[in-house]
This record gives sequence, C-alpha cells and structure tokens, in this order.
Amino acid sequence: LDNLTRSAPPTEVVEVGCLVAGDWLDGGTRLDRFGPWVRRVVSTARQADDGDVRAALTYARRGAKVVARLSPAARAGVLERAAAAAAERREGLARLLALELGKPLKDGRGEIDRVADTFAVCAAEARRIGGEVLPVAGWARGVGTTAFTHRAPVGVALAITPFNAPANLLAHKLAAAFAAGNTAIVKPPPQAPAASAAVVALLLEAGMPPEAVQVLHGDGRLGTALCAAPEVGVISFTGSVATGAAVARAAGAKRLVMELGGNAATIVCEDADVGAAARICASTGYSNSGQSCISVQRVYVHRDRYEEFLEGFTRQVEKLTVGDPLDPATDVGAMVDDDAAERVVAWVGEAAAAGATVRTGGRRDGATVLPTIVASPPSDARLIQDELFGAAVSVLPFDDFDDVVATCNDSRYGLQAGLFTNDVRRIVTAWRELEVGGLVVNGSSNFRLDHVPFGGVKDSGFGRESPRWMIDDYTVVKTLMLRGM
Ligand code: NAD
Repeated sequence: LDNLTRSAPPTEVVEVGCLVAGDWLDGGTRLDRFGPWVRRVVSTARQADDGDVRAALTYARRGAKVVARLSPAARAGVLERAAAAAAERREGLARLLALELGKPLKDGRGEIDRVADTFAVCAAEARRIGGEVLPVAGWARGVGTTAFTHRAPVGVALAITPFNAPANLLAHKLAAAFAAGNTAIVKPPPQAPAASAAVVALLLEAGMPPEAVQVLHGDGRLGTALCAAPEVGVISFTGSVATGAAVARAAGAKRLVMELGGNAATIVCEDADVGAAARICASTGYSNSGQSCISVQRVYVHRDRYEEFLEGFTRQVEKLTVGDPLDPATDVGAMVDDDAAERVVAWVGEAAAAGATVRTGGRRDGATVLPTIVASPPSDARLIQDELFGAAVSVLPFDDFDDVVATCNDSRYGLQAGLFTNDVRRIVTAWRELEVGGLVVNGSSNFRLDHVPFGGVKDSGFGRESPRWMIDDYTVVKTLMLRGM
C-alpha cells in the first residue's frame, strides 16, 4: 500500500501484480497504463495467465469456508479499520486516480471519502445479517413444526468493475461480499490497475484474510473465463450494456447483478428555482468529465424558463476550471483517453450539423473536452439516444409535464432521473411514471448515497448496488424445519 499511495515522483511507473493465494505476483506479460493527462505510462500491471486463473479460482473456492466461519463481528472489524485507513490514505489514492484516469483531485478525494463510507456501511450491515422465525403454525400442516431461516454466503463472488469510479465500485462489491461471508475474485478495469489494487491493499492491511480476495488483471478474455468458471457463485458486474450481455452469455445460470449504462435526464419545471438548477447541473454535469452512469446528459426545461436556464447554466459552466487534474482547484480534468474525447466532440458536431446550437465548448485538447452545452439537439441525435459518458450536456425545452415524462422514458436506459419542482403532484407522478431505478427531487440525476439502493431498469441493468441490498444478492436463504417442536 505504501508503494501504491506514496506521493510518487512524476516520472515513476507504479508496478501492480496479480494477487493470488496471498501473494502479489509480479513479472509475466504486462499491460502499461498511459495517463491521459500526464501523457506517460503511469502504471503497469501483470496480466493473469491461465495458471493464475486456475490457482485463484481454486484458492477462492477452498477459502470460502474460512471466510464463512469468521464471525460477523470479525468481518465488521476489518471493514471498520479499512474505512479509517481509506481516510488516512485519501491524498495518495486520489493522486493515483488523477494519474491513471485524469480524474481531478476534487473528484478523487470525493470518491475516496465514499470508499470509507462504503466500508463503514458494509461493517454495519455485516452486524445486521439475520434470519426469521417463520409463522408456520398458521397453516394446518405446519402445526407441530418450528421453522427458521438464516442467510448463508453464496461462496465465491466475482467482481468486475469499470474505469470511471474504480475505487468506490470495487469497494462496494468486495466489501459487501466479505460482509456477507464470501470470498471474492476481483477483475479491475485495465485503465486503473493501481487504484484498484490500492483499495484491495487497504482491506488486506486492515486484516482481511488472504482467502477473501484474489485480484486478476486482464481483458475481456479473462472476464469471460471467470464468468464461465463453475467455482464462481455470483457475479456483480458494472460496465457497458454490450459487455454486460457478454457477461450474461458466459455466466449461464449463475446469479447476476448488472449495473449498466445510462443517458440520464433531469427535468426543470416552471415553478423551479432555476438559478439553483443551473448551478447544480453545472457542478454535477461535468464532474469526472461526465464519465458517470448517472451524469446529467439531457436537461428538459419548461419553455417559460428555458432561456433563463440556458443563460444561467452557460454562465456557471464557463466558470468551471479546466485543466491539470493534480491541481486541487481543477473542476474538469481529462477523459479516460483521447478516443473517448474525440467521440464526444464528434457526437456534438453531428448534433450541430443537424441544427443544434453549441452554446459553449465543443472542442477538445488531447483527452480534455471543454465543458460543452448543446441547445436543442434533434431527438434522434446520438447525444439524446445513446450513452454519451462525456463532458457535454444537452438542454431542450418542453411544454407539458406528462409529455416530458414520456420523452424521458423514450430511451433504452433507465437508471436515475432528476426533477426540479416543489409541486408534490408532479413529484409523485414522476416517481410513479418515470422508468428509472431512482428519482432525485431538487437535485440532478447525478446524486448518489452509498447506503441507498442504486440500480436500473431496462438496459441499465438489474439488482441494487448498496450494501444492504448487495448482501441479499451475495447470500442464500437457508431454512431449518424442526418437526415435533
Ligand atoms: P466496459 O463494459 O468496457 O468494461 C467494464 C469491465 O468489464 C472492465 O473491467 C472490462 O475489462 C471488463 N470486460 C470487458 N469485456 C469483458 C467480458 N467479455 N467479460 C467480462 N468482463 C469484461 O465499461 P467501462 O468503459 O469500463 O465503463 C463505462 C460503462 O460502465 C458505462 O457504460 C457506464 O454507464 C457503466 N457504469 C455503470 C454504473 C452503474 O452503476 N450502473 C456505474 C459506473 C459505470
């Protein structure tokens, strides 16, 4: 952990191994990670070979009994110590995120604060896993039997994580699996091997036993092999829809939790505090360069307030500080790589060619996209239909509330939505009618509390990622029936 999180001199390359049976294995075939802002190799990770995969699966399967026998108090203790360690290592971890991903320190520090919260919430949930005494005597055949349930760990959990929040999403999957008494195999994103390994190291230094976690770096081929492995009992995947479909095909009949893409909408009604809406959409629409599954992608504003919103929003967005992610003042750093930035600029250009107005931005410098506002793109533009995952927000007018709800729903995705209004009827209508997993009122779509259920409907996936709900997915209900009692 010291190696991973010390303030590395700017030219140092962080070496990351695969973690198998308690050893960080170096050497072998390696994949370099090119930092999109610093424009040099910042980390290099051993790519798991077939021997690593076999050893990790065998060790994780055998270790499942060891972890299941740890008391919930012992598991909670590890997670609480790891929460404290995450807070202590905040700067070093945020710096790794900035180097590997171009993520501004502001966002990186926020992510590490959430890692600490996620560990602490998992510790609390580990203490609460319980069962029931079932009221079986309510039916004649049950008279004379006493029945109980408890939640038993599934065994081996596979955690596959994406690049955009590699620390906190890994914390969610790994800490909840451990809280529930499972072992886990982690497959981090190739863009953030060091930041991912550092989260695992926090847990190991806090006393997590070596059986509880194996880390294998690699590409889709490794992912497919792990998804298909019979040793794996449950898969928690976060990533794109296309990869999620490949995971499901390889997994066969395994238990799955899928957190996939989105193109989140936020609605601003005529009664809203438009100044607050503009300010909140500016700060949440471009954090991590829009690379969040619930980032503000489409804002629908009532026509009566549309111009006022656009002006206020543009003013706020033009105030954002763009530049060096390692500078604590920076709001918008680099995207994950130059290709991602080029895609965003291309989609904006297509919308402009089809009649939309680019109010600000629309350009890139290397992997950095200037915060972009696109007014009124056509409804068939990729900016509206697809997941952008970048630093451009589209703003469109609406006339009728029911119509705008239908417009938001006219999407293959359904993760989370934002709504600015104080009209309780509209709030309840939106909560009932919007096809999403969560609604944020008087906030944008881009707001998440780690102890609140989070997940999607439609192509955005299924299952809810939040420790209490994850523990349901990571455990099976086991029944005990005592006859004659
Ligand atoms: P991705 O789908 O390209 O990769 C995700 C992970 O899957 C990586 O670790 C990757 O190496 C691995 N992978 C690739 N091919 C695989 C295969 N065949 N089998 C198994 N694993 C495989 O996604 P990304 O570009 O890293 O992340 C961005 C995507 O993640 C966006 O679509 C975003 O919306 C989504 N996301 C969703 C949530 C959520 O909670 N719903 C949160 C964050 C990100």
